[in-house]
Amino acid sequence: MDDVDQRIAELEKRLSEAASEVPDIAEMLRGTVGERYVRCGKPGCHCEEGAGHGPVFFVSSSVGGRTKQVALTPETYEVAKRYVGNYARLREIVDEVSMINQELLQARRAKQRAEQSAGGE
Ligand SMILES: [Zn+2]
Repeated sequence: MDDVDQRIAELEKRLSEAASEVPDIAEMLRGTVGERYVRCGKPGCHCEEGAGHGPVFFVSSSVGGRTKQVALTPETYEVAKRYVGNYARLREIVDEVSMINQELLQARRAKQRAEQSAGGE
């Protein structure tokens, strides 16, 4: 097999591997999850001294330039963490796929040029 053909085959293999790792699009969340402690402000409450009430779990997401924060239960916090992780993974895959496709287009161009110059003899 030609060098460039081998290169194209390798890249195509990596491409299909990367594509097969894309998480479920329905389980994405572009945002951040976190937990915080709040002071209620009631005079004499123990939270005046300590860390505050909590933890209160939340997910914060910016959509259309507006940041919205939503409170979560411990259970939905775990789900939100997974969704945020899925989005981070998706972004990594998009970066990888972009890199592979760039190389693939370059390799296909090299192949085409080699074929054209061979045919023109
Ligand atoms: Zn309090």
